[in-house]
Formats: sequence, structure tokens, C-alpha cells
Amino acid sequence: MLTGLTIAVIGGDARQLEVIRQLSERDANLVLIGFEQLDEDMTGSAKAKLDQAHFESFDAILLPVSGTNQQGRVETIFSDEELVLTDNHLKRTPERCVVYSGISNDYLENAAAAAGRKLVKLFERNDVAIYNSIPTAEGTIMMVIQNTDVTIHQSNVAVLGFGRTGMTVARMMDALGAKVKVGARRSEHLARISEMGLTPFYTEKVAEEITNIDVCINTIPDQVLTASVLSQMPLNALIVDLASKPGGTDFRYADKRGIKALLAPGLPGIVAPKTAGGILAKVLHSLLKEERKNES
Ligand code: NAP
Repeated sequence: MLTGLTIAVIGGDARQLEVIRQLSERDANLVLIGFEQLDEDMTGSAKAKLDQAHFESFDAILLPVSGTNQQGRVETIFSDEELVLTDNHLKRTPERCVVYSGISNDYLENAAAAAGRKLVKLFERNDVAIYNSIPTAEGTIMMVIQNTDVTIHQSNVAVLGFGRTGMTVARMMDALGAKVKVGARRSEHLARISEMGLTPFYTEKVAEEITNIDVCINTIPDQVLTASVLSQMPLNALIVDLASKPGGTDFRYADKRGIKALLAPGLPGIVAPKTAGGILAKVLHSLLKEERKNES
């Protein structure tokens, strides 16, 4: 249980509702900042404005998966208030306060460091990223179905990257009957792709490997689908780019060439916010309990 812990939830999307529900069920005191348009009754939670919140009482601060932008702005879909988190806010928290975020950037790292507060990036954890790959892959399937006029079954699908997301996407596409090839850069990954009954190739050969594909799903957070690679891709191919912004595709050139290329961030929060929030809540619960144990 989280009895006696005060946790500020600052901004977020539909995923945060499940996190709030589960943390509240475990008896945490929740302060919701940037949620004034939320009608749902969140028993045991109080709403506050960022500038009026009592940061001195927070044991933990929970930011959305996206953290902040490079100006400190925190996204929220439940408020019109502009939420800009600064190191001055964090400096007002007690020393024990830990900041939890999905991902991070220089701004957030610097703000936490300036305030001397620990910053935990939940999406750097393998368990979170692997569980999260499930709704991501389901969302990818949804996007492919919505944006093609052929079945996934028997389609030629290239998946770029064989990390936590790429592996799940490749496996699900295979399970739907697609002819799946996967681009990776490590020989052991090529061996595993082959063991899974899929066709492996080295990422550096991508230009030769995408000449006959129907769908290309990118998970590599680096410019891999460059103009020169895209020039080899069929015009009717669909690109779903899952990599974090700005993605790994030269979208300008794809558009110029008439290839449909979609950057698809935050799929778990769109297709399965309850599941995705539940994944975060479960990990947060154990981290908060551990943190409290270390304090005592
Ligand atoms: P990951 O486990 O680190 O996998 C990344 C993959 O990309 C690995 O196979 C890695 O190869 C490869 N890679 C990285 N840089 C490369 C380069 N320069 N050239 C060739 N290969 C490279 O990451 P993940 O958890 O799968 O996430 C992948 C991306 O998807 C991230 O940007 C993440 O933020 C994003 N994501 C998006 C959604 C969404 O809803 N759109 C959901 C989840 C994740 P090595 O293993 O050899 O390093």
C-alpha cells in the first residue's frame, strides 16, 4: 500500500487516468495538476493549479510518458492551462521527492539535477518497454489495416530494428500471415530473426531489401529511411514510423515521391490507454514502495 505518500500527477493523456485510479486504490494521496477538465470522480484525489500547488508536500511527481518539451512544457489533454515545470518548482519539494517520467530530455535532466532530485525514466526499463510493445504492435496493426487496401496476410512487410518494439511487431505481423523480413545490425539478432522463421537482413542493406514491400514499419530512432532509400521503395508502399519524434523517415522526400508515410507516436495511449496505464501503475507501485523502504 502507498498510505501516507503524496504524489503529484502533472498532465498526461488517457493512460494517466488508469495510473491515478490504481495509485488511489493503493491509498496514495494524489494531487492532480492540469486535470481541471476531468469530470470523472477521482475519489481520494485533489485538483490543483501548478502555481498554487504545495510542492513542499510531494513525495513523488509523476510526469506524462513524454516528460516535458525542451521549454519545460508538460502536455495534458485535460486542461487549457499551460503547464511549464521549472527547476524552481522542483527545488521546493522535499529532498526525498522523486520525479518519474516516461522519457526525458536535456531540459528535464537539467531541471532535476539543478534541484538535486532523482529522475526515473520509466521507459528506459526493459520490463516497461517490453510490456508497452504489446499495445504498440496492436496499434501498428490498426494503422496498417486503416491505411492499406490489402490484407496483412500475404503482404510483404519489412520491420526495421529488432529491439523491444521491433521484435513484438515482427512476431505479430508474422502471426497474421505476413511475409516478414527484419532489418537489424547485430549478427546475433539476425540469427534470432532467422530462428523465428523470419527473413533477416543487415540494416545497412535496407535500400536493396525494400524494393518489393507493401508495408515498412520503422522502430529505429535514427534516419534510416533516407531519400536515397525511399527512392528504391514502391510508390504504393505504406510506412508506419514508430520511432520517437522526429522518426527515422525523410517525410519530406516520402511526400514528394508520393509514398504514404505516417509518424505514429503514443500508440499505446491511443489504442489501449487502460492497459498502458496499468503497465505504468504496476511498475510505479513497486518503485514507490522500494523508495519508501530505502527512506526508512
Ligand atoms: P530498442 O529496444 O532500443 O530498439 C531499437 C532498435 O533500433 C534496436 O534494434 C537497435 O539496434 C536499433 N538501432 C538504434 N539505432 C540504430 C542505428 N543508428 N542504426 C541501426 N539500428 C539502430 O527501442 P524500442 O523500445 O524498441 O523503441 C524503439 C523506438 O520506438 C523508440 O524511439 C521508442 O521511443 C519508440 N516507441 C514508440 C512507440 C509508439 O507508440 N510509436 C511505442 C514504443 C516505443 P541495437 O539493438 O543493435 O542497438
